[in-house]
Amino acid sequence: EAATASFPFVGKSVEFKPKYEHFIGGEWVKPSNGEYFENISPINGQPFTQAARGTKADIELALDAAHKAFPSWSKTSAASRSNMLNKIAQVIEDNLEYLATIETIDNGKAIRECMAADLPLVIDHFRYFAGVIRADESTISEHDENTVSIALHEPLGVVGQIIPWNFPLLMATWKVAPALAAGNCIVVKPAEQTPTSIMCLMELIDGILPPGVLNVVTGFGPEAGKPLATSPRVAKVSFTGETTTGRLIMQYASENLVPVTMELGGKSPNVFMKSVGDADDEFFDKAVEGAVMFALNQGEVCTCPSRMLVHEDIYDKFMERVIARTKAIKMGNPLDPSTMMGAQASNDQYEKIMSYLNIGKEEGAQVLCGGAKFSQNSGLEEGYYVQPTIFKGHNKMRVFQEEIFGPVVAVTTFKTTEEAIEIANDTMYGLGAGLWTRDAHEIYQVPRAIQAGRVWINNYHAYPAHAPFGGYKKSGFGRENHKMMLDHYRQTKNMLISY
Ligand code: NAD
Repeated sequence: EAATASFPFVGKSVEFKPKYEHFIGGEWVKPSNGEYFENISPINGQPFTQAARGTKADIELALDAAHKAFPSWSKTSAASRSNMLNKIAQVIEDNLEYLATIETIDNGKAIRECMAADLPLVIDHFRYFAGVIRADESTISEHDENTVSIALHEPLGVVGQIIPWNFPLLMATWKVAPALAAGNCIVVKPAEQTPTSIMCLMELIDGILPPGVLNVVTGFGPEAGKPLATSPRVAKVSFTGETTTGRLIMQYASENLVPVTMELGGKSPNVFMKSVGDADDEFFDKAVEGAVMFALNQGEVCTCPSRMLVHEDIYDKFMERVIARTKAIKMGNPLDPSTMMGAQASNDQYEKIMSYLNIGKEEGAQVLCGGAKFSQNSGLEEGYYVQPTIFKGHNKMRVFQEEIFGPVVAVTTFKTTEEAIEIANDTMYGLGAGLWTRDAHEIYQVPRAIQAGRVWINNYHAYPAHAPFGGYKKSGFGRENHKMMLDHYRQTKNMLISY
């Protein structure tokens, strides 16, 4: 039964089912306990769809299906897996606007971003791993004149993947595309806040993969995520989410001695060196845009540049422009293509961000702009909207140290390069960092000194499929993207054959 929904203002209608079941063994499967949970759209705070409330029994069914599919799937040729990944990419491309609309209603993100960035990246990641798996051959070499060494790759088996809500389709793709390319079967557990878009994707790609290769069980973390992460029947657990949840998942997986990938939180510094002040207008403008990136995706980005470090000599000139640019961010209904910033993904997240706005004020941080709820009108009053906010303070404050995961940046100044590096590294996280400079020496030396897995230099927030991405310190370990991912999803078997 499909329903047609129409969301306020933009006259946008989209077809979706009122209820989504699990996708297991190539079929739609009712939750074993018969229970569903309500998925609220952050756009207007109203119910959107219902998703199956998964439990251990559903995870077990999905693992059964995946184990059944694995023996033949693991023997498929790289060429046929590559073709299937390309087909998935094509289906997504053909249905881009539909998927972007669902993703936007699910998550609250601005549809213009979703269509211009999130989904094109999803498509490119599938195509990238379709290509990489073809180019990757096993290694055969002679050990001595009588012995040949063959290094063979074998998939790990059935893997469990647990996904966050901030980029529902893209974060799932980062895990699903390489795992499929390497020949694994998968059970995915999406975030309970955004269970719908991935189910719509499963409907669209149904039939491309053999049954049981890719299974999706929706539900809550402790009810559906835990049985997946604790299962002795998974060969790996790949997790993206909060650092505190990551700790739990590692404990679970340690019982079964299976490898984990941890993509966790961040508090990324964005450093603006003195030379930005002397740069030409084009570069200066680009740096201002780079600073305002803290509001991208409503700040719900693990690499959100949530700490701005600005050289004291350029502070006044630079911040005047950053504040003006931040105030010009057009907020509104995220389904309106002119909207730049939409709603926070859930009420919990909205409340958390609002509490940090108070924390910042209470600890004496100065509000340079924003600092409050954004009041929507005409039917969206119940949605979760927060003004993009800039605090000024010092790096020991909680708003500088704790991940807010909202459109909030904390700015401070520095005098010397050493001081900038010290402040940049004064965090438990180490996921992303930005550096803006016209100085050739700094372009190499400063990123080398910053403890983070990704440093953007004179740009920010690009995520090409071929660039390895992941954290240092409490931001996790393991990487995503890049062809090295194949090795994160497979074993290497060496055979030494004498003749
Ligand atoms: P979260 O940790 O609350 O939830 C993530 C997923 O884990 C969800 O699917 C949830 O249901 C599941 N989960 C929760 N408790 C569980 C348990 N006990 N057992 C098994 N599964 C459980 O994180 P979130 O709020 O969805 O996402 C936001 C966080 O994700 C932020 O900290 C952000 O920085 C991080 N993140 C990191 C990256 C990265 O690549 N490093 C990317 C995106 C988001």
